[in-house]
Amino acid sequence: MTNQKQTTLWTESGEVRVGPVARVAMLAGVDGQFTYTIPDHLAGEVAAGKRVVVPFGRTARPAAAFCVAVAREPWTSTLRPVGEVVDEERLLNDELLELGEWMSRYYCCRLGKALSAMVPEAIRSQSGFRAVHTYRANEGVDPSAVKSAKRRAVLTVLNERAEGVSQDELIERCAVTRALLTAMVKAGQITGQVRKEPAPAPDFDRPADEPTFDLNEAQRKAIERIASWAAEEVFRVVLLFGVSGSGKTEVYIRAMRSVLERGRQAILLVPEIALTTQIVDRLASRFRSVAVIHSGLTGVQRSLTWSAIARGEKRVVIGTRSAVFAPCPNLGLIVVDEEQEGSYKNQQAPRFNTRDVAIKRAQLGSIPVVLGSATPSLETWYNCGRRPHFERIALASRIEGLPLPAVEFVDMKLAQRERPGLHLLSVRCEELLRETLSQGRQAVLLLNRRGYASYLMCSRCRQAVVCPNCRVNMVFHQTTGQAMCHYCQARMVVPARCGDPSCAGALVRWGMGTQRVEEELRKKFPEARIARADSDTMLRTSQYEDLLRAFSAHETDVLVGTQMIAKGLDFPEVAFVGVVNADTTLSMPDFRSAERTFQLVTQVSGRAGRAEAGGRVVVQSLAGLTPALRFAMKHDYESFARHEVEIRQRIGWPPFSRLARIVVSDRSHDTALHEARQLADAIREHIGKHRLPADVLGPQSAPLARLRNMYRFDFLLRSPNAARLMETLDRLRGDGLLRLNARNILVDVDPVSLL
Ligand code: ADP
Ligand code: ZN
Repeated sequence: MTNQKQTTLWTESGEVRVGPVARVAMLAGVDGQFTYTIPDHLAGEVAAGKRVVVPFGRTARPAAAFCVAVAREPWTSTLRPVGEVVDEERLLNDELLELGEWMSRYYCCRLGKALSAMVPEAIRSQSGFRAVHTYRANEGVDPSAVKSAKRRAVLTVLNERAEGVSQDELIERCAVTRALLTAMVKAGQITGQVRKEPAPAPDFDRPADEPTFDLNEAQRKAIERIASWAAEEVFRVVLLFGVSGSGKTEVYIRAMRSVLERGRQAILLVPEIALTTQIVDRLASRFRSVAVIHSGLTGVQRSLTWSAIARGEKRVVIGTRSAVFAPCPNLGLIVVDEEQEGSYKNQQAPRFNTRDVAIKRAQLGSIPVVLGSATPSLETWYNCGRRPHFERIALASRIEGLPLPAVEFVDMKLAQRERPGLHLLSVRCEELLRETLSQGRQAVLLLNRRGYASYLMCSRCRQAVVCPNCRVNMVFHQTTGQAMCHYCQARMVVPARCGDPSCAGALVRWGMGTQRVEEELRKKFPEARIARADSDTMLRTSQYEDLLRAFSAHETDVLVGTQMIAKGLDFPEVAFVGVVNADTTLSMPDFRSAERTFQLVTQVSGRAGRAEAGGRVVVQSLAGLTPALRFAMKHDYESFARHEVEIRQRIGWPPFSRLARIVVSDRSHDTALHEARQLADAIREHIGKHRLPADVLGPQSAPLARLRNMYRFDFLLRSPNAARLMETLDRLRGDGLLRLNARNILVDVDPVSLL
């Protein structure tokens, strides 16, 4: 187009013009992008990354949308104009928009939804921003020609500062009223303006003394390499592989510092803040200008923190999932601690894995990303050495050569045969616990179930009491005397007899839970001070923190809990860790269960004896000594990985494929089944017809077959790699086979749990 008056160019059809248009994605409802023209009066305001209101649908009802691009291109007069612009500032910069578009494609999620998820609600509503009125002197107004002394004073101050002066300052300095300023505006002497300004962001800085030790050789090398990649601005995925206590955190800190020194920002992601307060405190104390994004922040604090990050005032961002979207304008490094953790997966659309989004962000920004772990996910492990950009750096041993604890195995089937009565703790476990306590040291006992006696069962017909909504076993809670469903939170008063009227046998409690273990401990060790940590007792973060503080101060001797206590605890006095039931993860219907067991046992045994030699660990299991346990007890990740990778390869599961899980649900069992079959068949046919690189497994009844009163069926879409999976999903979405606004269909790419 060479015509200069492009905006009014008419072609032969009389309909096509060229001019600025906005491409938008709807916040709610439909998938896809839509184009609108930009009316002249909004020309300077519409920008990618801001929200707009546009007329939508046949009735042209106003709908909120994200503007994702502004372009000059031909358009026809049938295009409608943008109605209004919602945000003054862009909520997402170009890099984050690109990341959002990738998420929308890769995780098969509507773009509007993906973009909204990147900007917390409080930021969208600009909580904490206050209106600031400023004034400027109008041109050509001569203060000396003004009679009133007060007005003269105002004009004199304003003439000194061309950028304008705030109302508050004027009122104070010139001793004038707001009414006088308004009168001066009316008289044409000054002009007022309202700006939205953030209040100061919350301060997280708690500087502490630097440790005095010298880095060891492995740490120095690791830091050097990460820092040089960061300096050269190259994309690298660095697996920092080292057992707990090998000094990984120190490497994070120094590598982050090296990028801060060059004026850039760094993000550190942790799986769960409430459970890792020690680590967060320790990290935060080593930096200045820190932002910690956690669930305890109010909306206002969150919004102000966000905007301080965007202005570059906060230079270190520490947080969980959402912190990966921190709007750092000048990001130099991302660190993902405990990269294998399942809690990095977002369990609502967009169902992203924070670690993988971090990798993508690093790639878009040409920076390194460090993944730290003692037990990396098999995907990450496998990628190192096979894919370009992936590098493995190992920190081989514990600092100062501290040995890893000795791990013993107790086969609970044998143990139960040898001792009458029901004991959750084996003789060996009791022995070591007694020894630990008599030495005045601390112990941690871990198991996978909350509550008291997990289940209720009929003594005659052996039927368990199940949740009427979800069809999973109800968990009995001693404290309330109620049974509770841990999926839908339904509660019921425990019936006295079996629900089957033809049986009516007496109900008995069986299984084990944290409460049962606590009770047994109190009986066997009446003198010990015992604390229990699980999500039933720890309803608030502060309760958890109190409990940890007490344990850390050695006001309690034994900590009993679910795996939530396995993460990130660093207690030098813990000399004994018991895993009460390492078998429950093995009974999960999931190809990752062996990996989970390995991670859990390794992680907890890392908790024993961090400070001094001589930590002991006992692992009890009803399922025998599985390979995962055998390798975990020897702290031998590499052999476990080799063993497990071989199995995965044989059966074609990740890392040898990528999965998308599609769940169809309905109130009616038959409808759910029918629709799942229909969808799976249609997709299968489409794949065959267009030779798409994927296959379909299923459908079948989902392991959690009934959830919140919905019947669920699922099937898997499997492709050889991520690019092929994305290609397949793109195609299915584009051809209308996967409708993402349908309520009864859920698409989960790279699922971490197949429940
Ligand atoms: P990880 O993150 O791998 O569990 P940390 O970085 O927390 O390991 O290190 C474990 C402990 O050793 C911490 O108390 C840390 O301060 C200390 N530490 C780290 N590096 C060194 C070193 N080079 N010399 C002495 N102590 C160190
Ligand atoms: Zn019965």
